[in-house]
Amino acid sequence: MVLLEAGKLPHKNYLNIWHLQELRGIEVTDEYVTLGALTTYTEVQQHPVLRAEFPMLCQAGKETGGIAIQNRGTLGGNIVNASPAADSPPALLAYDAELELISKAGARQIPYSKFHTGYKQMEIAPNELLRAIRLPRSAAPLRHYYRKVGTRKAQAISKVCFAGAANISNDQVRTIRIAFGSVAPIPIRCWQTEAKIQNQPLNDQTIQSAIDSLATEIAPIDDIRSSRDYRLQVSQNLLQDFLLQLKTS
Ligand SMILES: Cc1cc2nc3c(=O)[nH]c(=O)nc-3n(C[C@H](O)[C@H](O)[C@H](O)COP(=O)(O)OP(=O)(O)OC[C@H]3O[C@@H](n4cnc5c(N)ncnc54)[C@H](O)[C@@H]3O)c2cc1C
Repeated sequence: MVLLEAGKLPHKNYLNIWHLQELRGIEVTDEYVTLGALTTYTEVQQHPVLRAEFPMLCQAGKETGGIAIQNRGTLGGNIVNASPAADSPPALLAYDAELELISKAGARQIPYSKFHTGYKQMEIAPNELLRAIRLPRSAAPLRHYYRKVGTRKAQAISKVCFAGAANISNDQVRTIRIAFGSVAPIPIRCWQTEAKIQNQPLNDQTIQSAIDSLATEIAPIDDIRSSRDYRLQVSQNLLQDFLLQLKTS
């Protein structure tokens, strides 16, 4: 609608998928929570299992637009809209989300981390719809850290968006997942930075090595919302804060 109003989309016939029941509903099994692509941000925030086990997704929903957008905007639309500044993708990346794509030929699953291939480029064919987003339920309890940094607290597009999930036992990092929005052409999972932390004790040396690695893994730019330098500094600060909170808890 925004692009249409701005004259950036041709006025032609569009297909309304809002009433497709096959794309609706939140299903919980022992292993997964599966959200239909048409799940709204409001429905995400209200779901008890998502609130308990995937709080970063609920927080992303709470910080997306205003109440009207949260009631009508869908998680599937947020994914396929493919903005690198969107707020749900970092949480979905940190939760190892998988996507189910459907067409007349059938269904296929892909890890969400492989979905965005370049700025507004995606692993989806013109004849496919995103049907569902599948979140694996973690056997080990995770610590979650989500921060959206914008110009103000509400109705702002992110300058940097961070999602981190981790599990620590016997002073070693057993699970670490780090994802960012607004710091690269696509929402990005930081595998190299994670490798600096995985199976390491969370000491000053590990934290510094992760912060240094992050600078080589993300590629923030100058644009109307922020500068490259600011985004890089804030990204490193958020990573440091996340790791320090893990260390002291
Ligand atoms: C005022 C305003 C504020 C906003 N604030 C934020 C914000 O703070 N954070 C944020 O992340 N986003 C924000 N957005 C963006 C918006 O909330 C999301 O992009 C929204 O989730 C889109 O959902 P939708 O269902 O409306 O998708 P649409 O806008 O209808 O679709 C987006 C694109 O995805 C395609 N698509 C949608 N569903 C599917 C599907 N199931 N399968 C295949 N293709 C599909 C459509 O064809 C289209 O190309 C804002 C938008 C507005 C207008």
